Amino acid sequence: MSDCLFCKIIAGEIPSTKVYEDEFVYAFKDINPLAPVHILVVPKTHIASAAEITAENSAYVAHIFEAAAKIAKEQGIAEDGYRVATNIGENGCQSVKHLHFHILGGRKLNETMG
Ligand code: AMP
Ligand code: ZN
Repeated sequence: MSDCLFCKIIAGEIPSTKVYEDEFVYAFKDINPLAPVHILVVPKTHIASAAEITAENSAYVAHIFEAAAKIAKEQGIAEDGYRVATNIGENGCQSVKHLHFHILGGRKLNETMG
């Protein structure tokens, strides 16, 4: 999608700090980290949010979680634990309308999710 920030990052048109990439997935450091490790994992195809997941594209989500597990190990946060989260729409405070999963770790995270 031409005016999508994360599509531009995936295409290399906007710089990012890559931490992982394969055929389906791109992962990079969040520009405004909320924890010592804060990485975004995105599908290489434009999906607006987790609310747009269907039987046709759900394999991307499985693949993203596979990549997230790998990334967490590589980043050294797997043993102590971490959070994988995705925001959806207005009430979910989603600011970029390209599906992305936050990987947060490296410190004890807040108990509250809301
Ligand atoms: P969300 O609020 O769930 O839509 O998350 C969007 C995330 O994208 C936020 O945590 C931002 O800090 C992050 N972000 C925005 N622009 C960039 C960028 N150019 N490079 C890396 N992360 C970004
Ligand atoms: Zn996009």
